Amino acid sequence: MKGAESTPRLKARLTASAEAAVRSGHPWVFAKSIREQNRLGQPGELAVLYDRKDRFLAVGLYDPESPIRVRVLEKGKPQALDDAWWRARFESTIKRREGLFDTQTTGFRWLNGESDGWPGLVLDNYDTNLVLKLYTAAWAPRLGEIIQVITERLEPGRLILRLSRNIQSEVSRLSDVHDGAVLAGPPLEGSVTFRESGLWFEADILRGQKTGFFLDQRENRRKVGGLASGRRLLNAFSFSGGFSVYAARGGAVAVTDLDISAHALESARRNFNLNAAERAVVSCNHETVKADAFEWLDSSPAKFDLIVLDPPSMARRETQRSRAIAAYARLARLGIQRLSAGGILVASSCSAHVTADEFFRATRTAAVKSRRRFKELETTRHAPDHPATFEAAQYLKTIYLSFSS
Ligand code: SAH
Repeated sequence: MKGAESTPRLKARLTASAEAAVRSGHPWVFAKSIREQNRLGQPGELAVLYDRKDRFLAVGLYDPESPIRVRVLEKGKPQALDDAWWRARFESTIKRREGLFDTQTTGFRWLNGESDGWPGLVLDNYDTNLVLKLYTAAWAPRLGEIIQVITERLEPGRLILRLSRNIQSEVSRLSDVHDGAVLAGPPLEGSVTFRESGLWFEADILRGQKTGFFLDQRENRRKVGGLASGRRLLNAFSFSGGFSVYAARGGAVAVTDLDISAHALESARRNFNLNAAERAVVSCNHETVKADAFEWLDSSPAKFDLIVLDPPSMARRETQRSRAIAAYARLARLGIQRLSAGGILVASSCSAHVTADEFFRATRTAAVKSRRRFKELETTRHAPDHPATFEAAQYLKTIYLSFSS
């Protein structure tokens, strides 16, 4: 791939600790870890990183606007990052998903950023639509070439571009694209539909959170579907009712979607209607409640036999970490109060700044403090199409606790 390279090549030397981190596979080089560089760099340029002995260390994407100044693409030995290299990288990422999904699941992730060798880039599949999401403006100058690699290989019906909010103005300065732009295929209004484990869902791929759906929770939704038979489910922070539709198909007698967003709950109702061909979904009693989940859990007298707690990230920054852990503990306590004897609690955290250990410990402690008898069924991590190869990428964790009293 040809980029914005100009001579001389952009070169940087790193601090000793950053050098060691890159050598061991860490994909980020922060601005403060660059000891010296030969000149100012442009967004999306390839920066060559050298070690203290002036030997090649890695090559990565340069982003002068981000504290993550270089995102590593290739380390070890020098290689030309030409068209063939980009195509080969794409091919190996696609191959990694081979055999994971059949026609029952047309919503999944093709590229999961750094952990797949595509730093700051996500590519999701929704039926015949692809959604490319950028988390660094450094990809903007390379967009044309990326689109070519993707469309050549996957031949999508449509390709949509999404931009992380914090890079939107920078990207529009660098190129003429915008969040929600249709990069290939016909124009789109509203949502698209796709399948997950044989169920139908809608996704607002033009405007919705992430790329329109929380594809990362698929495996937990499957598990909840398997636990739901004969139970009353509370799906707190339900978004578009993903967990609930699975639970309904799995034989739940009633499901309650609880979310602060009326928009999300309308989508949940449509997702139930999309699955009207499933008798179990039609016969399940579906309710929606628009409320703050903390307040509602604290004040409602209702009891449930299965409760899913899947709040948005509670710690956007490292400094919010301890407050987030306390909020998870409080949420677990409130959830356990609403759980009937024999009930199951499924609690998730998507905060990258809270570790799995911290989150699991907070939830277990809340269970111990409830003075009820419980056992831990399991903990889960990332879905196979969402690989996470370094600590900051391992955001998603879920714990299943079963209460016998
Ligand atoms: N479990 C969902 C994803 C949840 S995303 C799935 O599988 O698809 C988090 C949701 O929490 C969003 O829909 C957001 O509207 C909602 N939310 C955020 N703050 C909330 C609050 N205080 N009370 C209730 N819902 C809230």
